[in-house]
Amino acid sequence: MDVRIERLSKSFGTNQVLKSLDMTFPERQFVTLLGPSGCGKTTLLRMIAGLERATEGQIYFGGRRVDHLSPADRNIAMVFQSYALYPTMDVAANIGYGLKVRGTPKAERAEKVGVVARVLEIAQLLTRKPRALSGGQRQRVALGRAMVRRPDIFLMDEPLSNLDAKLRATMRGELKRFHLDLETTSIYVTHDQLEAMTMSDLVAVMNQGVVQQFGTPEEVYDRPANLFVAGFIGSPPMNFAEVELDGLDGAPVLRLAGRALPAPLQFDLSRAPRSLVLGVRPQDVTMAALDDPHAVPGKVWITELIGSERLIEVEIAPRLRITAEVRSDIRAALNAPAALAFDPARLHLFDPATGLALP
Ligand code: ATP
Repeated sequence: MDVRIERLSKSFGTNQVLKSLDMTFPERQFVTLLGPSGCGKTTLLRMIAGLERATEGQIYFGGRRVDHLSPADRNIAMVFQSYALYPTMDVAANIGYGLKVRGTPKAERAEKVGVVARVLEIAQLLTRKPRALSGGQRQRVALGRAMVRRPDIFLMDEPLSNLDAKLRATMRGELKRFHLDLETTSIYVTHDQLEAMTMSDLVAVMNQGVVQQFGTPEEVYDRPANLFVAGFIGSPPMNFAEVELDGLDGAPVLRLAGRALPAPLQFDLSRAPRSLVLGVRPQDVTMAALDDPHAVPGKVWITELIGSERLIEVEIAPRLRITAEVRSDIRAALNAPAALAFDPARLHLFDPATGLALP
């Protein structure tokens, strides 16, 4: 079932942490709320769960208004960062707890717990207490508890952040698989863009209580709506530089650090401001020949090897440095002259006054 929020606002005292949000989480989709610490992701998730009251606005599950219902009446399951297992109960009792409080008979409970435990490959752990489990195993128990109830909506708040990097990578796949098996609508909170980009059908990029962009991972990566999204998504981050738009009566060019770059054709520049912010991802910058007239010259500031790639940061003007991500066998000596070329089809342009991407 889908989740719709309308003009949803939340204030704690005078601090407005969510500002009149309107959005729909489509049925059976995996949607991630992604944003920096304090942007309001957890607050939004807790309001959908019923753990926090809205200051204004409405929440609907499948067209039915739920914001006056208690969490127990919403048929949601929630997995937290801390897993919140009951320490005195064994794994089977933890997984079956939600069924027990709903009065499910013992035999049926054992049957359902057994099925879930087999799927999550924790059947051999059913008689253990949480303290005798590893972080990844505890995480699976928490998932099992959510899974056994067949919730309409599955809510997760940074469920992987306590795990080490390797286990986190494994669990990303398992969670996605779990979402598909459950055929439920999942809403996932994280500040980790890798999690958001790899797991989600849709990503809502949030900042300061506002959804900055809501789209597929490809859309927010390839066509960021504004400077915030452009700078937040992508690693290493997008390069930004001020450019002047010129030559509009003939062939338009972008002046960057004294060089004229051919203006990208994908933009309608006829009504663009003369002063713009150019954005280019390090993956779309290459090292060019020093005598290439379309390349921007500078000198190597620093280089950094990151596995099979190398980052080369080139200073093209005082305090203006651009990073290129190139193959690791491409080498550059510190302070050596270098020239950078940009893939024109992959350039981004923003209005500095509004921060919005040019259409
Ligand atoms: P994080 O990733 O750090 O958890 P977040 O994006 O989930 O951040 P929220 O936890 O939703 O952010 O918090 C948003 C803002 O609301 C923060 O400024 C926070 O201090 C404030 N806030 C959250 N809960 C309360 C509360 N119970 N009382 C007062 N202020 C709160």
